[in-house]
Amino acid sequence: MPLSSFLTENLAKNEAPASAGFSVQGLGVSAGITIGTALVVGCDTPTVSEQKLPPDAVAAEIDRLHQALVQSLAEIEELKRRVTEVLGERDAGIFDAHLMIVADAAIRTEVEALIRARSCNADFAFSHVMRRYTQRLQQVEDAYIRERQTDLRDVSNRIIRNIRGESKADLAHLQEPRIVLAHDLSPSDTASMHRRNVIGFATCLGSRTSHTAIMARSLGVPAVVGACELIDRARNGDAVILDGYRGVVIVRPTPEELSEYQDRLRAQEEWFQRVAAETSLPAETIDGFRVQLAANIELADEVMTVKRAHGVGIGLFRTEYLFINRPVLPDEDTQYEAYRRVAEEIHPQSVIIRTLDIGGDKFLSHLSLPSELNPFLGIRAIRFCLKRPDLFLTQLRAILRASAHGKIRVMFPMIAAVEELREALGYLDQARKELDARGVPYNHHMDVGIMIEVPAAALIADKLAPLVNFFSIGTNDLIQYSLAADRSNPSTTYLYQPGHPAIVRMLRDVQSAAFRHGIWVSVCGEVASEPLLAPLLLGAGIQELSMSSPSLGRMKRLIRSVRMHEAEELIARAVDCSTAAEVLALCETYVRRIAPDVLGE
Ligand code: PEP
Ligand code: MG
Repeated sequence: MPLSSFLTENLAKNEAPASAGFSVQGLGVSAGITIGTALVVGCDTPTVSEQKLPPDAVAAEIDRLHQALVQSLAEIEELKRRVTEVLGERDAGIFDAHLMIVADAAIRTEVEALIRARSCNADFAFSHVMRRYTQRLQQVEDAYIRERQTDLRDVSNRIIRNIRGESKADLAHLQEPRIVLAHDLSPSDTASMHRRNVIGFATCLGSRTSHTAIMARSLGVPAVVGACELIDRARNGDAVILDGYRGVVIVRPTPEELSEYQDRLRAQEEWFQRVAAETSLPAETIDGFRVQLAANIELADEVMTVKRAHGVGIGLFRTEYLFINRPVLPDEDTQYEAYRRVAEEIHPQSVIIRTLDIGGDKFLSHLSLPSELNPFLGIRAIRFCLKRPDLFLTQLRAILRASAHGKIRVMFPMIAAVEELREALGYLDQARKELDARGVPYNHHMDVGIMIEVPAAALIADKLAPLVNFFSIGTNDLIQYSLAADRSNPSTTYLYQPGHPAIVRMLRDVQSAAFRHGIWVSVCGEVASEPLLAPLLLGAGIQELSMSSPSLGRMKRLIRSVRMHEAEELIARAVDCSTAAEVLALCETYVRRIAPDVLGE
């Protein structure tokens, strides 16, 4: 249903709001305006408070505890069974700790005693007892045992939810359009959201380059993060306006606010129609320089939207989402089918398949990864794959096999050193040999590239370039690692400066090292779709910009307004600036002059 009809039908019902509305200022991370009805999703960690029960309700409360334990046991055993089937006993081992906690007679007796002694609710008593156990674990010296706190917390949350008869809101099967208001959403929650019925979301946690925000942009779902008060003050069913441009969420809006936003929504729809009409025009500067535009995708299904709406190739396929939302790891054939489908659908354009980039803020519950103090600096991406050759080789064989069916390039994430790249290339060779031995066809000349997203790689780009066919600059990580500012932490957003002169210099230097070695460069981080910064990328000579597909129209408009010699002058001045603010001021003056409408205000 078009948004406008949805509005007329649904908002008329809200003319007399139950109580005064309010608005919350957060950070807009996915552009667009959406108006609809709230779905408030509780925290993963439920808040528990004590309630006094009449003495005759105590026995029933203990019964509720027992039923929840039985239900939790059955759920965990089922999970364990599904994981064992495909991964074997080792990976399913993580559930043993959960099962032991649920079946622990001492814990159960303590909780029962507390319910009787205080005449209190079972969820409170259970969480009280578990808190004592967690505190005891915190004091243990052995790091492995200390880490079992996570198991304790996980299983405790499950049991508390079962005592209360709650289930986590199932965003995958929403029956009606809703704006989701949540404390936090993981990348996997976002990936599995119902595509048509989640029409926007706002969270308390998150940042512009967290993978949840990236996913929202890919799906074209307006989103706001850092909107903390929302969860406490909004109620299910409230009317909500969510403005992903300005980062504002208005709950129970006034008729004046509604009418203002309906006008803005109409203007937004008209703008998108105008931009859509330009799809067939080339992405070319006024003075005739062509830039390759491409789309980033997280899910194989997105390929059809990219093809239909934009007719470009895929500059980054984040394959980790193939691994995330499933009970077991995808085997070689499953992966091969997914890669082959994307390659065939996008043909005659090409697809860059990035090997598994797990870790950081993307986790797999079915791989028992040790928890790390600094996951973004830990065993992530290529580091993880080099430690798990079984998984890496399976993926490489699947990619190679799919390369026989379309234009596939492969790329390794998070390379920091030449040895690491050589080792990854060694596994690629081994995968080729294994396929040769099986007599399976593949493209023997498939391009191989790396992501430049660690400052060390940017600084030795001239040493890495001779080993590969292309670079793809991952600015999301390059910025966080260069400026030591966590990309997903709202408190460090002010330090995370894409326009920092250090970043501009790195972009220029990586491009010039690549140029000297005759290889091409793409930018696939979020900077590629920042209207203010894109002219710098063109000025640096970057050949390809890859971004979430809803940004492509806007970016083509910008490119078609640029003169290359002006972009070159712009970057020459930017690398000489002292601060990010100076760089942004230069860029803003330029973009306001050539294409003010792309700023989306
Ligand atoms: C990047 O780091 O810029 C990038 C594109 O990779 P990801 O966002 O998936 O880490
Ligand atoms: Mg990255």
